[in-house]
Parts: sequence; structure tokens; C-alpha cells
Amino acid sequence: MLLKINKVIINTLFICSLFITSLFTSCNTSTNVDLIIYNAKIYTVDSLFTIAEAMAVKGGKIEATGTSKEIATRYESANKINAEGKTIYPGFIDAHAHFYRYGLGLQTTDLTGTTSWENILTQLQSFARQNSEGWLIGRGWDQNDWTIKDFPSKEGLDALFPNRPVLLTRVDGHAAVANQKAFDLAGLKAGYTLTGGTVETKEGQLTGLLIDNAVDLVSSKIPAANGAQIKAALAKAQANCFAVGLTTVDDCGLDYTEVLTIDSFQKKGELKMRVYAMLSDAKRNYDFLFSRGAIKTDHLNVRSFKVYADGALGSRGACLLQPYTDKPGWKGFLLSNLQHFDSVANIISSKGFQMCTHAIGDSANRAILNIYGRYLKSKNDLRWRIEHAQVVNSADFNLFGQYSIIPSVQPTHATSDMYWAGDRLGKTREEGAYAFKQLMEQNGWLPLGTDFPVEDISPFKTFLAAVFRQDAKAFPAGGYQVEAALSREQALRGMTIWAAKSNFEEGEKGSLEKGKFADFIILDRDLMTVAPSEVLHTNVLSTYINGAMVYGRHLAVK
Ligand SMILES: [Zn+2]
Repeated sequence: MLLKINKVIINTLFICSLFITSLFTSCNTSTNVDLIIYNAKIYTVDSLFTIAEAMAVKGGKIEATGTSKEIATRYESANKINAEGKTIYPGFIDAHAHFYRYGLGLQTTDLTGTTSWENILTQLQSFARQNSEGWLIGRGWDQNDWTIKDFPSKEGLDALFPNRPVLLTRVDGHAAVANQKAFDLAGLKAGYTLTGGTVETKEGQLTGLLIDNAVDLVSSKIPAANGAQIKAALAKAQANCFAVGLTTVDDCGLDYTEVLTIDSFQKKGELKMRVYAMLSDAKRNYDFLFSRGAIKTDHLNVRSFKVYADGALGSRGACLLQPYTDKPGWKGFLLSNLQHFDSVANIISSKGFQMCTHAIGDSANRAILNIYGRYLKSKNDLRWRIEHAQVVNSADFNLFGQYSIIPSVQPTHATSDMYWAGDRLGKTREEGAYAFKQLMEQNGWLPLGTDFPVEDISPFKTFLAAVFRQDAKAFPAGGYQVEAALSREQALRGMTIWAAKSNFEEGEKGSLEKGKFADFIILDRDLMTVAPSEVLHTNVLSTYINGAMVYGRHLAVK
């Protein structure tokens, strides 16, 4: 009996020790990962808006998030970063931008706000040093901003750049100044006449000034960017975007050849930015994608078409139901007839692709909502988008919810347009414009973007405009139409997970959850708590794509 009891005890002890050993070994066999970040404030932006302290990254993806202790217990890495309490968000996604065009624009020099002709010549010299060959192109000068308000002439340009063609266009695009080299390439001589424009000649000499149609005679000689120039342009665009925390951009309206260019740079590792590309409304683009099928790589997603319903509110090109308040009798116009939009919707619907339509005015929005409704029929998960959705009639808001149509909005448009939107629309209509909260409530989610380069690339300006309804000058003090403001959490979701969802990519990005790309940013302030005046002082310290740093400085690596 005693022996038997002893045996039981021994057996029990043996089992216990086995159990303890196995517990002990499980504690010691931690998984090896590529990167551990701990002691951070990580907004995972998961469905519960969970905040974690640490995360483990493996193979470019999030392996786990948790407390610093949990991650330290379960994972081991040669690469550990102590974030010292700093804030981490998923990488920002701009749901509406023109990345390619922005890049090409960076290859020209921006002359807006220049204060004198001498000022321009100085700027052009430094631009020429950074861009050592080809045409020198500048845009945006306005002699009304200068102390001497005369139109410029070409002597200064000829002296500085005898061998490089120069074309500097006025802010409105209706006038430009060119140098002799440019005139030679365009084959223009003093005394040249044309209809709808002027090549200015004084005392038998070209002055350099070109008016209206004459500008095209020179600009048409500028060669299209070559491969090396496009590569440099996109690299510069990418660097600027990484510096403000963007890791994905939606490029709204590209030709398929541009998409193939992006794809080839991405495949060679020369472009790390992730791109959601919408093809523009042209037969060759439909033919291309319908025959080829959607394109999906880790960096590129092409399954969508961008269509334009109307123009912009500022230039009174937006199509309104009632006349402009500041232009009686004028309602703007649609850019194509309704049959065109209908037939495009029909074919995109039958092929199973996504339709994204630019609509600014309440008439354009109503027309597109109704055409979409014809093909979507009821609630669905096709995520057809209306880009901008700026002025929506109060009777039409519910159509977004009824047909699960996604409004894709740009908060900085509200704070740029607020200075004159009331002039165009009058008080009542203005109150239904830029109604982000109301639009968000239709489907319970709302992607945010900037429309850069129309607006600045900064997601921080988007956040300030979305939540506090203020521009970079902190105007207006109490915010513009604050009843349409989003909460901080909604704005962060709009710039991350909801933007991903508008691209059908919420399963792979937009939040920091197991299995998703390790695309994240480390910031010196927390947008969820900073004062409004601090939003634009928030800096991205570093930006990561696939768990690798693409911008910034390394924090203390342990
Ligand atoms: Zn746009």
C-alpha cells in the first residue's frame, strides 16, 4: 500500500516535472522575427481601435501586437527598437491623388508667389543646377504680385540660358515668356501672326512674351518626359510622400501605359510606393483592362476606372441644379452626355470592375448617383465611388447609403474653397457642401484624400481640415461648418483602414494586425490627443514599408 502510494506520488511528480519542463521550454522557445518595436503607443486601427505597446514583424508583415512584455516573451529579434513612448500609426493612404502628375510637376519650377522678375531668374538658376539638361519649365508667375508690374521680357533669360530652352507660364496659363532658344526650336520669328494669340514683337524684335494660342506654339515643342526623367520624377514624388507618412496613394486617372511604367519601376525595386491606379475613361484603357484582367501585385492594384462628370466649383465648371449665386442663369455643365456615363457604367458593371466618378456639383452628383443606382440596384459590396461629392442636394444623401456608393472626399478642398464657396453657392446650398459627417454616416465609413497636387500632399492638413475644419492659417477660429466635422478616430480611419477599404485592400493594409503589410509610421506627436494648433507641427520620424525603413532616422536600436 505504502509502496503503491509512493509510486503514485512518484508518478505524479514525474508528470508534474514534465509539465513544468514543457512550460519552461515553451517560455524559452520564442519565435525569431525580423523586427520588434516596443515601448510604443501603437494605434492598430483594428475594429476596436486597440492600442498596443509592441509589435513583431516578420517577412514584411505584422506577426503580432501586444504589450511590450507579451511580445518580449514570445518573440526574439536581433533588431529591436525602443520607441520611447512614441506614437505609431498604420502608413497613411491617400484615397484620391495624382501621384504621377505630381511627380512630373516636380520636374518644373513653381513660380507662384515670386515677388519680382529678378527673383524668378535667381530661382531658375538654382533649378537649372539641380536639373542639368533639357527644357527649363516654370509655372505660376503673376506680374501683379511684383513691385514693377510690367510683363517680363526675354533678355535676362537669353543671357543666362543661351543654349537651353526656357518657357515660363503665367499663373492663369494665358501668357508665357520664352527665351530665344525656345523660339528657335518652335521656328518662331519676329512679326509672326496667328489667330487667337500674339507673339509680341517690338521695334522688329521678339520681346519673349506669348499670349493665349501663341503659348501652345512653344509648349507643343517640349518633348514628352523620357524613361529616366519619369523615373526621377516618381522617385522625388515618392520621397516627398514618405516624408509625410504616405505608404499608399490612389492615382486617379492614368493611362494604361503610365500604369505599366509604374509596374516596371516597382518590379525592379526602384519604386516602393504602393499604388492603387484608376485608369482614365478612354477606349484604349477599357480595351486594355478588359482583355488583360485586373492587375494585382503587392505594390499595384488596377481594377478601377476614373470618369469625369463635371468640372470644378472655383471656375464655375461644376454642374449645379440651380444657377450659380454669383453668375445668374449659369449652372455649369456635364463633361459628357448622360448616355456616355450610362454606357460606361453598364460595361464596367458587366465586367465586374469598380467605377469612380468625379462629381462636384449637386446636379452632377444626382446624375451619377442615379446612373450608379440603375446598375447597383440595392445594397452591395462593389464599392463604386463618387470622387469629391462636394455639393450634394439634401434629397440625395440617402442614395449613397441605399446603393452602398462610397463618397471619396478631400477635407482640404473644404478649407481651400471656404473663402469663396458661399459666393458660388449661396448660404443654403453651402451648408450642404463638404458635408463629410453626413456622407460618412451613409455607409458608416469614408475614405479621405487630398487630390494632390491640386492641394498639398500633407495628411496632417487633411486631419486638421477633417476634424477642426481649419486651414494651415488656423482659419477660421471656430472651424468652418463644424457640424460636418469628423472625430479624430474617424479621420485616422479615413486616412488608413477606410481608404484601404475603398480600394478593396482592407485585408492587407490600413491597420496593424497579424498578416497585414508592416507599413507604419512613427510620429513625434499623437494626433489623437494634440491641440489643434499642434496638428501641423506633428512630424513623421520614420516611415516603414514591408517592415523596412524607407524614410527617416533609426530610433535607438537595441
Ligand atoms: Zn483629382
